[in-house]
Amino acid sequence: MAHGISDPECKKEYFDSQIELNAKLDQLAQWIKESQHFIVFTGAGVSTSTGIPDFRSAMDTVLPTGPGEWELQDNKKFRSNKAKIIDDIQQAIPSPSHMALVELQRRGILKCLISQNCDGLHLRSGMNPAYVAELHGNMNLETCEKCHAKYLRDFDTDMNRSDHYTGRRCDKSDCRGQLKDSLINFGENLPEDELNKAFNHAEKADVCLVLGSSLTVTPASDIPRQVAKRKKKLIIGNLQRTPLYNRAIINIHTFSDTIMKGLMERLNIPIPPWILRRRVRIICQNDPDMNKSKINIEGRDPDNAEIPFTLFKSIQMTIGDRKKQELNCEPFSIEISNKNIHSISIRLHFFGHYNEVPFDFHYINIRNVPKEEQFYLFYNPLKGEWRKTIDETDLPI
Ligand SMILES: [Zn+2]
Repeated sequence: MAHGISDPECKKEYFDSQIELNAKLDQLAQWIKESQHFIVFTGAGVSTSTGIPDFRSAMDTVLPTGPGEWELQDNKKFRSNKAKIIDDIQQAIPSPSHMALVELQRRGILKCLISQNCDGLHLRSGMNPAYVAELHGNMNLETCEKCHAKYLRDFDTDMNRSDHYTGRRCDKSDCRGQLKDSLINFGENLPEDELNKAFNHAEKADVCLVLGSSLTVTPASDIPRQVAKRKKKLIIGNLQRTPLYNRAIINIHTFSDTIMKGLMERLNIPIPPWILRRRVRIICQNDPDMNKSKINIEGRDPDNAEIPFTLFKSIQMTIGDRKKQELNCEPFSIEISNKNIHSISIRLHFFGHYNEVPFDFHYINIRNVPKEEQFYLFYNPLKGEWRKTIDETDLPI
């Protein structure tokens, strides 16, 4: 089945002249400054500069990632080895567009980001999930089919199964339901909660910016359409003309990063560098009858402590001068006698998509491990080091 664009006119890429672009961005910046409820709708075009190919770009596209996935399939062609694509999406570094959107959300200017992308880059870039609607799922997220609990993983959860089962089960002892990846394949219904969130914001929006979407997939494209229907300002940033071309108040034809860099300059807001954010939680349960304590170490979503996040490939623990113990799978827990007076050293090993170095921390002895403790770790891949903080408002700007 062909999913690409069949009309050659709709595949044609347009580029605004610098004068046209400047005028459009000046106007857009002004509208955003005056907006009450600004929302953004993103498609694959927002991620192509990170090396992730899109789906529908034509065989003659200017994009370094080359033609879209489905365009290649429709033309029975393979991707050229000259295409600048990333081998592992987990290693993709958020683009200036992703980071500009994070900053607009942190400042309260962007009220909701609606995305068709399942590459997980919006959350990885630092967007607060409370202000994101991921319509087509997230490759790092799986959910319990029974209790709908969410689990984030620092790896791709897609097992390429049509039933979406990942083989893992819910952590909750009273549930233990089967977990499913959150990806939405063609023909499958969109997640109701995300869709409702998106439409609620489309109902309130006075300015909606589309970035890098061909707007050919429904019901997702009905969201920006709804803004136009309400006679509010719809601005579409995409290389090709979209089916909503005539409904938009402005169509901007250039790359998403060019739009967002120009926009942030006009808003006088710097685009922050990308910093990897992690939350680590340590629980220590004392069993006075057995005279021992159990230490449990886990990752949690940095913005929502309710969501477990698989962050560690392994954890090493060394007690006193004893041989170090290596824990290789969740739950990462170890029992220690309360009589043990030796120091405890813990080394966290991450999955290393961004060459994260291990992180070490220590306790004087088991009696010094608090009942519950959590801290945040920020990793700057350019510096190659972690910064630890216990203040959740201490954002890595
Ligand atoms: Zn469950």
